[in-house]
Amino acid sequence: MNQSEKKPILVVGAGIAGLSAALRLSKSGHQVQVLDQNWMVGGCAGTYLRKHHLYESGATTLVGMEEFMPLGMIVRETGLDIQPIHLEIPMQIHFPNNRILTRYESLDQWIDEAEGFFGFKQAAFWKQAYTLADTVWRASTKYLDFPPANLSEAFSSMLKFKPADWQVLRKALISTNQWMKNQGMPLQGDFADFVDAQLLITAQSNAQQTNAAFGAAALAYPLFPNYYLPGGIGKLAQAMADLALKNGAQIQLRTAVQSIKKIGSAYEIQSNDQVWHADQVVSAIPVNNLIDLLGQRPAGIRDLRTESSLWSAFQTSFSVRQALPFQALHHQLHCERPIPHLAGKTLFVSFSHPNDSERAPDGSLVVSVSAHLDLSKPWNSEYKAEVEAEILIQLRERGFLVAQPDYVHSAAVGSWQKWTGRAFGAVGGYPQLNGLKPWQMNNAASGWPGLWLAGDTVYPGQGIPGAALSGWIAANRCLAALG
Ligand SMILES: Cc1cc2nc3c(=O)[nH]c(=O)nc-3n(C[C@H](O)[C@H](O)[C@H](O)COP(=O)(O)OP(=O)(O)OC[C@H]3O[C@@H](n4cnc5c(N)ncnc54)[C@H](O)[C@@H]3O)c2cc1C
Repeated sequence: MNQSEKKPILVVGAGIAGLSAALRLSKSGHQVQVLDQNWMVGGCAGTYLRKHHLYESGATTLVGMEEFMPLGMIVRETGLDIQPIHLEIPMQIHFPNNRILTRYESLDQWIDEAEGFFGFKQAAFWKQAYTLADTVWRASTKYLDFPPANLSEAFSSMLKFKPADWQVLRKALISTNQWMKNQGMPLQGDFADFVDAQLLITAQSNAQQTNAAFGAAALAYPLFPNYYLPGGIGKLAQAMADLALKNGAQIQLRTAVQSIKKIGSAYEIQSNDQVWHADQVVSAIPVNNLIDLLGQRPAGIRDLRTESSLWSAFQTSFSVRQALPFQALHHQLHCERPIPHLAGKTLFVSFSHPNDSERAPDGSLVVSVSAHLDLSKPWNSEYKAEVEAEILIQLRERGFLVAQPDYVHSAAVGSWQKWTGRAFGAVGGYPQLNGLKPWQMNNAASGWPGLWLAGDTVYPGQGIPGAALSGWIAANRCLAALG
């Protein structure tokens, strides 16, 4: 047995990315030690209990479960057991004056709805968006060494490319705006606002900044099956953790890593209560956090964003005893007037499933409302009460809230710092920027032997499926290095 087999592989972070890496590594028979600073697993995709109700820490929507998508691949490869409910209607968009646009999963039904709502032909645009998105999803689980760490990897990836993949690559070179213009779509008005708002919650950016390949995948998000997890989104992280434990992994919570030192070809990891030694480390925390822990920046981290270019989130949660007010569980609300201190003009509102008695045993609904918070602007925790009050007023005005909410509580920058330990309280991963091509993004290779990168600041890293895939890719690279 060589040295690498004796020492456990250390995974920092038990969010979706860290757990995905731990699953892959433990499934391959390696000893794995996961450390997380929080008291529960899941990070930004966790579910916590308060006053007999289960609340979401961040994420509420779930895609990526089909067999050619990241979570589908992980389920297939590991036997992960989760029981999602397919949502007939993934999302509804609420424009001012009570105009509701329903995002149907069926492409034909959605095209009819969108053409009727916006009043112009869009079939070719949406068909192309769907085809591009389908290719992007399939490519994501096919090219597990993307983005390439060096020229030789780039060359071997390209040899495997199919014609549809080249189409996607070409779209990665132009902005979503440019692609919309080429397709004769308007760049102003309700349609453009709708596109920007949808991109904000998927790409964390807008049509000007997001490349068209990613933009298409983001816009077509509701055209692929969306799911609900009874008991909360945190059931995914819990199922991943349970399976990793069953495979022999160890998960230690309430254990914050304070520094990582490279000593020769190995690593010394100092946590709040212990020193750990490992030859292989998967860092499943944001790269900004990792650099703090290392005290320097490994050469492989090519894309490092500053606080002012990242988002935090404002999240208000409550339970309410009322019927589901609309057809869907998930809604994007275009506000009739801006909410003070928040970025963008929309709120994202998710209801628990009315039959989910595990989340709300008293027949009530649990509601999560989130919005982007611009870290380039000063935030003061004293704003919290003002923002929360205005959110509740607007929810009432727009028919989301018809009864008295119970246990209203909100999270902002400081809450994210505490809950996830994330630098600056920045969440949602790195925004997609058109200037940054996919092959320039951070990938799993840190540039330091034995140190692998995962999480939503590393390719592809957007949302739960992206974070899960990034962990899987990091584990793959680690396994390849171990031979
Ligand atoms: C408000 C909000 C809404 C969202 N909505 C959706 C959605 O609807 N659908 C979707 O797919 N995605 C959504 N996302 C995005 C998605 O939740 C995240 O991208 C994903 O969960 C990130 O996973 P991660 O493992 O990369 O990071 P994290 O979830 O941040 O996990 C990192 C883990 O590392 C731990 N950690 C940090 N520092 C240390 C340290 N020094 N030592 C030990 N442990 C440490 C943290 O405690 C945490 O558990 C949303 C995010 C937010 C914030």
